[in-house]
Amino acid sequence: MPLPKGIRALDDLPVEGRRVFVRVDYNVPLDKARNVTDDARIRATLPTLRNLIDRGARIVLGSHLGRPDGQVKPEYSLEPVAAKLAELLPVEIKLADEPVGDGARKVVSDLRDGQIAMLENLRFSAGEESNDKTFAAALASYCDVYVNDAFGTAHRAHASTAGMVPMVADRGAGLVMAKEIDFLSRLLGDVDKPYIAILGGAKVSDKIEVLDALLERVSAIIVGGAMANTFLQAQGKSLGKSKVEGDKAPIARNFLRRAQERNVAVHLPTDVVVASGLDSDVTSIASVDGIGSDMMALDIGPATIEAYRKVVGAARTVFWNGPMGVFEKPRFAAGTVSVAQALAENRLALTVVGGGDSAAAVAQAGLADKISHVSTGGGASLEFVQGLALPGIEALRG
Ligand code: ADP
Ligand code: MG
Repeated sequence: MPLPKGIRALDDLPVEGRRVFVRVDYNVPLDKARNVTDDARIRATLPTLRNLIDRGARIVLGSHLGRPDGQVKPEYSLEPVAAKLAELLPVEIKLADEPVGDGARKVVSDLRDGQIAMLENLRFSAGEESNDKTFAAALASYCDVYVNDAFGTAHRAHASTAGMVPMVADRGAGLVMAKEIDFLSRLLGDVDKPYIAILGGAKVSDKIEVLDALLERVSAIIVGGAMANTFLQAQGKSLGKSKVEGDKAPIARNFLRRAQERNVAVHLPTDVVVASGLDSDVTSIASVDGIGSDMMALDIGPATIEAYRKVVGAARTVFWNGPMGVFEKPRFAAGTVSVAQALAENRLALTVVGGGDSAAAVAQAGLADKISHVSTGGGASLEFVQGLALPGIEALRG
């Protein structure tokens, strides 16, 4: 599918011999020795970078990493990220020792056609997150062309995602961004029915807006994870020591009522995997009407898995956000893995997964290549499927 009106594709940008700023999302996890433990976000950008290298662009990469809160903190340096990228491409990456300033300007001006420089963590400057004009202008002065390939931060109006963009003559979407827009916008159009949304994860409060927006579009909603606990408690069930947002019961009840008015089925768990604690080795299956007062519901149970698999199997469009249980622990991962398998097995449906933990669960199960699209953005994908305008995408227009 073509990009939305007014947004240029990478191949339509005049990049040959010009300085091209590429906003990437290299906010990757590091271990204690500061090795990159998951390079998926770096790998995702390789096609965009190879395209630019082949066309003789002078590439300036900008990213944030973690939350250094506007201060230079060596533990948040992009150095291990630059090393990982150099190994994957493989080409030399010149890392500036600051996001803007004399050092950054020098590294950029030394670039030859087809070479890559990386600015230091953009959030070392407070101007990045405050979308400061002077900081944005400094970034813009390093380039002739702007490319956004950082879908994961497109819902933030920061200097590198929004402020600098109109200050650069030519701008457009990178290949990661274009693919995200392509798949996610299909969910906002005329989708094949039944369209099933699967929502799980930690909190109802994080996702009530998404639930509300999806209610307008979907045929049915499947709920799992701790989110389901809040719905079950709102229906009068005893959840023992489970994670529940007790104060969200009115919101949950209100949502269920509106779903009924719209004829949208809301599927809640009928059984759950319970244990006395997250680290308990002893687990059992309980009906949602019989959860012990000292027990926690930590995954959906086998009967629920069966029911959810059937609903997913009959779907022609599926959007999934949020794990069905505490999937980080193998004893509570079956629900999440089974739902991932159900998506993977449904070859007739458009299947889209968004959300950091959900995407990690799909990757962990080795099923990512059997899903139509696994979004690289958590919050950004949720805002997109609600039909909200994302500042990082809007800035690319015109
Ligand atoms: P995503 O990142 O995909 O949007 P969330 O961040 O909303 O998902 O939720 C993921 C978290 O929810 C995981 O850390 C998982 O352990 C937790 N979770 C899921 N089900 C439960 C549950 N029943 N009890 C406690 N935590 C849960
Ligand atoms: Mg999460």
